[in-house]
Amino acid sequence: MKKYLFIDRDGTIAAEPYDEQIDSTDKVVFEPFVIPALLKLQQCGFSLVMVSNQDGLGTESFPLNTFTPAHELIVNTLESQGIRFEQVLICPHKPDDNCECRKPKLGLVMPYLKDTSWDREHSYFIGDRDSDMAMGKNMGIGSIRYDRTSNGWQQIASSLSSAPRVATVERNTRETKIKISVDLDHAGLSHFDTGMGFFDHMLDQIATHGGISIDAKVKGDLWVDEHHAIEDTGIVLGQAILKALGDKRGIGRFGFVLPMDEVYAEVFSDNLNTDDVMVALDISGRPHVEFTFDAEFSRDKVGQMPAQMVPHFFESLAVALGLTLHMHVSKGNAHHQVEALFKAFGRALRQALVRHGDELPSSKGSL
Ligand SMILES: [Mg+2]
Ligand SMILES: [Zn+2]
Repeated sequence: MKKYLFIDRDGTIAAEPYDEQIDSTDKVVFEPFVIPALLKLQQCGFSLVMVSNQDGLGTESFPLNTFTPAHELIVNTLESQGIRFEQVLICPHKPDDNCECRKPKLGLVMPYLKDTSWDREHSYFIGDRDSDMAMGKNMGIGSIRYDRTSNGWQQIASSLSSAPRVATVERNTRETKIKISVDLDHAGLSHFDTGMGFFDHMLDQIATHGGISIDAKVKGDLWVDEHHAIEDTGIVLGQAILKALGDKRGIGRFGFVLPMDEVYAEVFSDNLNTDDVMVALDISGRPHVEFTFDAEFSRDKVGQMPAQMVPHFFESLAVALGLTLHMHVSKGNAHHQVEALFKAFGRALRQALVRHGDELPSSKGSL
């Protein structure tokens, strides 16, 4: 999903002059590090939109022929360094004109607000004034106050490029009510309440071995059977992880794990003798999910969990998250078989989720 930075101009990109009006080219001074910061943020996948109030633009107090050369110098300089604003939106009115487009009113950004396809959760309004903070709030996105001394461009760029990977997904149907929150960068804050002790224990394996936190509240129609609750938990968990991943920049993408004789082998190859359990996964985002599952469970049920729901759970999760997933477990005690699969999945997921830098791990340019 597309994510935006809506950015104020004066006092945020260009320094605000003493008279608060940039009406000649010699008044154009850039704020420190704005260019490298915007380049980095663009690389992290943000699209940029400039939103500026220019009081009385086009009137006698601020004629266009004094504004335009200075404004073009700002935009052209940014562009020459690789920074592209998708749009530059300007309100030319004075406060007492009572227009609908002066920040923090929403007139200028209305086309963006009508478009529901972009990612509100990871988009921000950046500016130096209270009206900019109010603008973010009115748009339903976060606001970031730019301040040269306490929250300059270098700080903003580094905090936004390592934005927290958290998400919550809620799904209510006639069969189940599920709310799952995930935090992909912090372990140890998990909580499970699915009404099925063994399933809680299994989800805990994914969280613990995946190095993530999962908070799962599941109310299923357990009086019918466990099927819906387990399947839908897989779907919602997959959706939550996908949402938290955002544009997936920097992630390992691939995970593989091969525990043999209580030892995790860190390599996976086709001709290894896979005696215990094998999981290989790829957060590929492909529309058609490759899922293979190879297990012969020694019992039909472990705790309240029907063994046949294990592949069903993982397939639901794989489809929701866009995973290519291959799983294998050898014969043995059914509890151990199931637990080994959840543990191994968690371990493989850990590798795939880990973040280094902000490259997109795909030659196609999208995942
Ligand atoms: Mg400003
Ligand atoms: Zn206006």
